[in-house]
Amino acid sequence: MGNCARAGPRASREASPLPSRGEWAARFRPAHQPETFPRPQFTLNCSPERQVARTKLKRNLPTKASVGIVQHAGSRGIPLGNKRKRINFDRKLWNGLLSLQSCLVQQNTKPGRLTYFLFSCSEKSSPATRTMHSKGKVVLLWIFAFAVFSATVVVYLDCARMDVLTETLWSAPIIWEGTFERSMLDDYYKKQNVTVGLTVFAIGKYLDKYLKDFLTSANTYFMPGHNVIFYVAVDNLSGVPSIKLGPHRTLKVFQVEKERRWQDISMMRMKTIGDLIESHIRHEVDFLFCMDVDQVFESDYGVETLGDSVAQIHAWFYQENRGSFTYERNPESAAYIPYEEGDYYYHAAVFGGTPQHIYNLTRECYEGIRYDKEHDLEAIWHDESHLNKYYLRNRPSKALSPEYCWDYKIGWSYSVRNIKLSWRLKEYEEVRNN
Ligand code: UDP
Ligand code: UDP
Ligand code: MN
Repeated sequence: MGNCARAGPRASREASPLPSRGEWAARFRPAHQPETFPRPQFTLNCSPERQVARTKLKRNLPTKASVGIVQHAGSRGIPLGNKRKRINFDRKLWNGLLSLQSCLVQQNTKPGRLTYFLFSCSEKSSPATRTMHSKGKVVLLWIFAFAVFSATVVVYLDCARMDVLTETLWSAPIIWEGTFERSMLDDYYKKQNVTVGLTVFAIGKYLDKYLKDFLTSANTYFMPGHNVIFYVAVDNLSGVPSIKLGPHRTLKVFQVEKERRWQDISMMRMKTIGDLIESHIRHEVDFLFCMDVDQVFESDYGVETLGDSVAQIHAWFYQENRGSFTYERNPESAAYIPYEEGDYYYHAAVFGGTPQHIYNLTRECYEGIRYDKEHDLEAIWHDESHLNKYYLRNRPSKALSPEYCWDYKIGWSYSVRNIKLSWRLKEYEEVRNN
């Protein structure tokens, strides 16, 4: 047993300036254990003072165990080597082992060098039992792998999306591919015989550049199978492309005055849409969408998007937090939103809802735009800033994921699985005149 005095950690801590239990662990646990060595069930750490610290060991002594001895060099924990042997134990032997430990410690008492003893305990089993056990393990592994695989498939195919937020804090659904069953919704809205309106503005150079592709793709993909009325506002009636519309589709064209600045063209849409709703849209449709013309439909943009008040989450901001949203930050502006407020950054390229809701929205935004003009102000993102302010005061009843208005410049995203509408490339110098 040499000169190693055995004492419990608590006793030794009280009696001498020995390190505390945590310090022991930090000081004497090897920086890394050799990978070939079995994971220890019991660890005995020896201090340079050769204290045997673990009392747990004595409580539940196994009768058979393999003993490994790993030697580490000093505080840097570089392994010097390891060996193992299997021994049958009884209580007497365990006591002996503690002596063995002391002896080995003694072999290694050069300054700065520590010895670790790792005890891994295992029942000695017959070769037949061992084969059975390993076969059992393989079967279990297969069952586990199969369970994980089927769970993944079920989650992916069947139920709501796990990788994205599918509900706002005020319990409005956020529509992602995989969160709706379109055929059921189609049946429901077919029975209601709904008509959906879609307003789009194409003024100046936007007319030639974007309107044809927008309308052609909308004809195919916007609310397929349902009644649709396209309300197209242009400054030049002769520039409207002739498009062969599908069944249940109607096109209505309006002439509007061309504002001088593109910012005003964009903002004045709020006034014109309100006027059009008032004069006839409200008598003609159950739901209305208002969209930018510089985008194109790519797959079915269906009835899952219908709702009382529908807002589009901006593709560039859906993963950002509110501090980085590009809201209007000037407190003087009607569109002002302080940094600590706001839920999402919404995109003005798409908004929808019942005609009544959109009427309220466009009137309130237009009021804000007029207020700012009277005070010689212009919100940073024009009508979009006012729209965001409106949605903060009147939270939408449904939000659309960026799959409903995606910009390919963002790159690939795991969450964006089925793009319905995407931004067109914009040659600003070409289409804007100021
Ligand atoms: N430890 C040690 N030597 C000691 C006491 C503790 O190395 O003398 C280590 C041990 O490895 C353990 C850790 O300190 O994982 C924390 O101790 P634990 O909480 O397990 O102690 P218990 O309260 O169970 O006695
Ligand atoms: N717009 C237009 N002619 C213009 C400027 C704007 O027809 O000279 C309309 C068009 O529908 C366009 C929308 O207003 O999609 C919003 O403008 P823009 O798309 O340039 O804004 P952005 O998407 O770049 O914010
Ligand atoms: Mn646009």
